Amino acid sequence: MPQNAFSHVNEWVFDLDNTLYPPEMRLFDQIEMKMRSYMVDTLGIDDTEANHLRKHYWEVHGTTLAGLMREHGIEPDPFLTAVHDISFEALQPDPDLASLIKNLPGRSIVYTNGTKPYAEQVLAARGLDGLFDAIYGIEHADYLPKPERGAFDRVFGQDGLTHKNAAMFEDEVRNLEVPHAMGLRTVHVAPEPIGHDYVHFHTYDLTAFLHQIST
Ligand SMILES: [Mg+2]
Repeated sequence: MPQNAFSHVNEWVFDLDNTLYPPEMRLFDQIEMKMRSYMVDTLGIDDTEANHLRKHYWEVHGTTLAGLMREHGIEPDPFLTAVHDISFEALQPDPDLASLIKNLPGRSIVYTNGTKPYAEQVLAARGLDGLFDAIYGIEHADYLPKPERGAFDRVFGQDGLTHKNAAMFEDEVRNLEVPHAMGLRTVHVAPEPIGHDYVHFHTYDLTAFLHQIST
């Protein structure tokens, strides 16, 4: 049972997309579509190439935006505004998750490769607004994305996070490597476990997992 593995934790770090809502809600599909059309419009490429580059930059640079900034000199703010202009209708409130997060001992924060204003909209649609002590986005890391060490250094430094007392929940497994090296407990939230030595726990049901470590 994982309770004891979290008994020292009083700072809780949550990724946003596909972590604080399940991937079945497919919110991120809309963002990917917006990224593709933004790339078609600004780079003058067709949709097939845009989709290829979107995935390629995500793999190589951590986010599509990081690749667009480094390879094409794209300005981040107009891109971020355009791709986060989506519908939140697919998201449902989760009162059980809200009450579990509210009752976690200590501080809870959100850290996303999206933006803080976007995170606030997602949290409101999930009924999770007002529960977090801080929300950090890509703009708080000088647009450097997770999984880069420098991004975690900037955000955790601003937050004053005590690494050894913290846990991180995240659906993208590569984003747990640096937190693990920093001394955080790591929880991979995803349909399938992926065996990495930097993942302490895996769950596909964040609500059930928080319930388990809270009792
Ligand atoms: Mg995510």
